[in-house]
Amino acid sequence: MDLKQLIRNVPDFPVEGIQFKDVTTLLKDGDAFAHAVDLMYDPFRDEEITKIAGIEARGFIFAAAMAYKLNLGFIPIRKPGKLPAETVAEEYVLEYGKNVIEMHVDAVTEDDRVLVVDDLLATGGTAAAACRLIEKLNGTIVGVSFLIELTELKGREQLAQYPVHSLIQYPI
Ligand code: AMP
Repeated sequence: MDLKQLIRNVPDFPVEGIQFKDVTTLLKDGDAFAHAVDLMYDPFRDEEITKIAGIEARGFIFAAAMAYKLNLGFIPIRKPGKLPAETVAEEYVLEYGKNVIEMHVDAVTEDDRVLVVDDLLATGGTAAAACRLIEKLNGTIVGVSFLIELTELKGREQLAQYPVHSLIQYPI
């Protein structure tokens, strides 16, 4: 199954110059969605994973499906102010300015071995901050899994200390 051909490139969204990789065209195909989720955890199937962490918003879709499939707990990593209980936060630098992501302080314990999931790896700032959040609570990162990687942005360099897997690559 050619998953790549099910991803829609939308030029100049949300701002001029960005080639937005739209996964809704893959998600609406049931076989493709299931196949993508299976292939996203396949390299980690022999690892002892205890929880799947998903990054808001499109990461939730793949991470939650994976957690259900593997009968594991799901951890939401969210934009600031969305999680209701006590949180830990991590900042990361964007081209212009900064972003913050949060996770509940009781989401992870030192016994957890976590697979981090998002739809797309660009510069790697978001996923690296997600990994730092989990490590702040003494969890172990088993790996980081993406549907798509924009290879020319070299996001892997930010995640050099973790096993990183992507299913579909574009230069940018
Ligand atoms: P980064 O922190 O630069 O690796 O950005 C990754 C996050 O931004 C992911 O959660 C993606 O959903 C989103 N993102 C960045 N670039 C794109 C793109 N070209 N198309 C779709 N989503 C993107």
